[in-house]
Amino acid sequence: VEYYLDNIQRESHLNAFLEVWADEARSQADAVDAKLAAGTAGKLAGMVVGLKDVLAYKDHALQSSSHILDGFKSLFTGTAVQRLLEEDAIFIGRQNCDEFAMGASNETSYFGPVRNALDPDRVSGGSSGGSAVAVQADLCLASIGSDTGGSVRQPAAFCGIVGFKPTYSRISRYGLIAYASSFDQIGTLTRSVEDAALLLEVMAGPDEFDSTVSKEPVPAYSELLTPAPHYRIGYIRDCLERPGLNPEIKAATEEALEVLRGQGHVVEAVDFPYLDYIVPSYYILTTAEASSNLSRFDGVKYGYRAPDATDLESLYKKTRSQGFGPEVQRRILLGTFVLSADYYDAYYTKAQRVRRLIKEKTDELLRQYDFLVLPTTPTTAFHIGDVEQDTLAMYLADIFTVQASLAGIPAISVPSGTDSEGMPIGLQILSGAFREEHLLAFSKLVT
Ligand code: GLN
Repeated sequence: VEYYLDNIQRESHLNAFLEVWADEARSQADAVDAKLAAGTAGKLAGMVVGLKDVLAYKDHALQSSSHILDGFKSLFTGTAVQRLLEEDAIFIGRQNCDEFAMGASNETSYFGPVRNALDPDRVSGGSSGGSAVAVQADLCLASIGSDTGGSVRQPAAFCGIVGFKPTYSRISRYGLIAYASSFDQIGTLTRSVEDAALLLEVMAGPDEFDSTVSKEPVPAYSELLTPAPHYRIGYIRDCLERPGLNPEIKAATEEALEVLRGQGHVVEAVDFPYLDYIVPSYYILTTAEASSNLSRFDGVKYGYRAPDATDLESLYKKTRSQGFGPEVQRRILLGTFVLSADYYDAYYTKAQRVRRLIKEKTDELLRQYDFLVLPTTPTTAFHIGDVEQDTLAMYLADIFTVQASLAGIPAISVPSGTDSEGMPIGLQILSGAFREEHLLAFSKLVT
């Protein structure tokens, strides 16, 4: 704990943590020491963990890096966080992220961007940017983030670490601030696949507080990490021919596929005809869900309240205009538009249908192949400010991560070398739903 606290202080310019729980972490560590001595310590004893600012932890500030939740403290601890505590994880602090997890560069945070530790002029990725940099810069051993359309995988790729999103519904969302409820999933940012497996094992499983959570049994993931000798691997031909894909990332992906072929696995190109529809359907559906989820922040129940309101309507308008940043407002407006009576069928219903097609085709491929391999991102970490004003470019950069989110399947990003400027490249692997133990075991072959 002292080691990480020193590092956090020294690297405070990275802006990874919004709050550090130094004294609490020290007393948690003392308690864990006592349990270790007594032989009663849990599976995570000694693991120093950071929490993205979207996870409820009783009596601790929680604000999704938004002005609108200023001063809000959580009244309860979410299920995943509670399970970590019960296995003796030590919480070191609350991590910066994009506002309401909306973004891919951590630049929409009310508290400013997180800096990439390899080059502080570059972004961390997002939305779990603080969580990724905290692991990258050795400010904690592991971070818990959330992934709606790539938010643990993409920053993990930009920072050269492992980012893992389990199957939708594998981990309870109770205590996770909602962005788009049919996509949101808690995920991990770690240095190793082993740590990802262990954390999943602790957090996963049924929960009476989340009716959508799966009742599938939870395997002992951390004990099932031996890869099989032969796998069938598919890669989507068009992904590698995508305009805008950095040639060095393309080369790194092809090299990884070649290595796998050399190890005796079957590696084949496959066609996926819906690549162009992935990003539009993702943004129609997630903004629709967000516009509904974020309606609760009205100045009455939580956090910030505009001081100069004169009646209820002006209270709502002023609080939300002042409390939400521009990206969140854009998404609420977009979502409200696609759900409006005149446009519902043209946009929302159609996007739901497209989601179904994407899911069915992806599931079909994952019956033919054990895994799909593709890049995590089209570029490496870009410079702070470079893409921020170009909303469409920022959305389109999610092209490789949102397929798994639309399909609800697990996906992991593992480090796969660097570009010529030394910035990390991520390789992404997708598997069928609830096949995490196979996905994690396989990932070890490419890390
Ligand atoms: N970049 C994507 C978005 O802005 C993903 C965010 C996320 O997974 N929370 O929606």
